[in-house]
Amino acid sequence: MPLYKAPVEDVLFLLNDVFHIERFANLSGFAEASPDVVEAIVGETAEFCEKVLTPLNRIGDQQGCRRGPDGSVTTPEGFRQAYRQVVDGGWIGISVPPEFGGLGLPVALTQIVNEFMTSANMAFAMYPGLTQGAIAALLTHGTAEQKSLYVPKMVAGEWTGTMNLTEPQCGTDLGLIRTRAVRQPDGSYRITGSKIFISAGEHDLAANIVHLVLARIEGAPEGTRGLSLFVVPKVIPNPDGTLGARNAVSCGAIEEKMGIHGNSTCVMNYDGAAGWLVAQENRGLNAMFVMMNEARLGVGVQGLAMSEVAYQNAAQYAKDRLQGRAITGAKFDDKPADPIIVHPDVRRVLMTIRAFNEAARALILWTAIKSDVAHRSDDAGEREAADDHMGLLTPVIKGVLTDLGFANAVMAQQVFGGHGYIREWGMEQFVRDARIAMIYEGANGIQALDLVGRKLAKDGGRAVMAFFGEVQGYVKEQAADAAMKPLVEPVGKALGHLQQATMWFMQNAVAKPDHAGAGASDYMHLFGLVVLGYMWCRIAAAAHGRLDSDPSGRMKAKLVTARFFMERMLPETATHLARIQSGADTVMELPAEAF
Ligand SMILES: Cc1cc2nc3c(=O)[nH]c(=O)nc-3n(C[C@H](O)[C@H](O)[C@H](O)COP(=O)(O)OP(=O)(O)OC[C@H]3O[C@@H](n4cnc5c(N)ncnc54)[C@H](O)[C@@H]3O)c2cc1C
Repeated sequence: MPLYKAPVEDVLFLLNDVFHIERFANLSGFAEASPDVVEAIVGETAEFCEKVLTPLNRIGDQQGCRRGPDGSVTTPEGFRQAYRQVVDGGWIGISVPPEFGGLGLPVALTQIVNEFMTSANMAFAMYPGLTQGAIAALLTHGTAEQKSLYVPKMVAGEWTGTMNLTEPQCGTDLGLIRTRAVRQPDGSYRITGSKIFISAGEHDLAANIVHLVLARIEGAPEGTRGLSLFVVPKVIPNPDGTLGARNAVSCGAIEEKMGIHGNSTCVMNYDGAAGWLVAQENRGLNAMFVMMNEARLGVGVQGLAMSEVAYQNAAQYAKDRLQGRAITGAKFDDKPADPIIVHPDVRRVLMTIRAFNEAARALILWTAIKSDVAHRSDDAGEREAADDHMGLLTPVIKGVLTDLGFANAVMAQQVFGGHGYIREWGMEQFVRDARIAMIYEGANGIQALDLVGRKLAKDGGRAVMAFFGEVQGYVKEQAADAAMKPLVEPVGKALGHLQQATMWFMQNAVAKPDHAGAGASDYMHLFGLVVLGYMWCRIAAAAHGRLDSDPSGRMKAKLVTARFFMERMLPETATHLARIQSGADTVMELPAEAF
């Protein structure tokens, strides 16, 4: 069975030594996140993930979800009991305000819990993960009545949440949505239509499922400007929260798919189901964006989580598997061959994955803290800056972390040679599971377009200029430190590439938008490398500070990994820049019939 050990020490190092979470004590909920509270939550989650969720991962993959003739869906053996433990542990509402039954603790803790759970069992972790997204949308856009009726039940895990956008003819282009809503005299709506690919659309983990559904009210404009968001419960709750009549929503089928078999991906049929408007009419996409942005960060965490668990297994295998001798002569004379970890090419793979994982985790936690500043700070300027950061970094986190999360799962599988292709070792499941993260929540090509087409120019480029300013300022400040110079110098150079790429778009893509479309994916990855490089500088600065008091060697390992990132991964920014500057002419030259 594949192993998983939650990276507890790493997250504590990031929270305490790199991001100094104690400095945010003025934000609500941070004072309560004292070191002992944080350690207790992180430790308990780690134990649950290692002992309960990890063994269920293979079972979930093999059994999958089954739909009964009545449209009910049964999750794999053990999922119900594990879900009960999640509910009892209070994990779903860790960061939800206490007035809705949550603990109100920093979002960073939620992200840590989600990373651990996803590494242990991605399909399972999606059930509470989607509920968290639906809670965020209701808290931001729901009426007071909707919040008090739905959110506490969802925080308590009694009801779960879903997001319903996709239809057979409509994926990326949500303007094509056909699901209809008809206003009723009592103020509710009748929802009719069919949604496909709905994660956790039907299951047996909770008594009720709260569907957030995008639909078009009769007479509303065509396109995305005519979409409204509705809350459509599977069972209609009475005003006191007890369950009433069954609503006209049902699961018509579950998809047979490549991975995440333990998560039900459903066709959901709405046959005149009762729904209630969330936010204003025709402003549904705006409201759904809260859930989508939340989910996009969650999907970025999935990329990291799959890369982490794949790495751990590959590293262990590389230490155990005996093949060949080191190029420089035998390292383990007592054995018939050396373990493959002696080979530079195997180490290159492991170092590449590790250098990604540790910086990606820092990026997630840094952004989680920004998310709290954006929602909890008393200072309007701070809130605006943090919100800018979230908007700019969300497509980068979603797109880059999932592209590389999948690539890393494949590289880790390669360390196993032929055994990686054999089901017993579990590596092929990581590859299959990780693949979806590049596709859903807006395929990664769309994330890149969002970054280049919307986020760069937003508010006159305020967010990207602030990001450039922060990294540039840090590089300048640290360049005087001899220990940091070898790290900040390459990051400064990579930032220069990013700035040149941004300028190239400004000069060339306005007149010819295909230039932006053809370069967007490279730009997103160039951005990702710069921000991961910046994270490595921040990590290394903290590691230097602890070097003398670290007999475990973990801090030294951080510094070596930081150097590896600068030498081996960051130079790719030059390639991305060259591709961007080559423009769209060749990409667009062949006529469609030539393909
Ligand atoms: C397992 C699974 C779970 C899912 N869960 C949910 C869920 O819970 N709720 C939900 O609503 N949906 C869900 N989805 C749907 C998912 O979000 C969509 O599949 C995804 O958004 C892409 O839509 P599509 O499949 O129709 O692809 P299309 O929109 O047809 O896109 C096909 C390809 O074309 C590219 N493309 C499309 N338009 C453009 C453009 N303008 N410019 C450049 N490239 C473009 C895309 O990047 C993509 O690579 C799920 C899907 C799967 C497989």
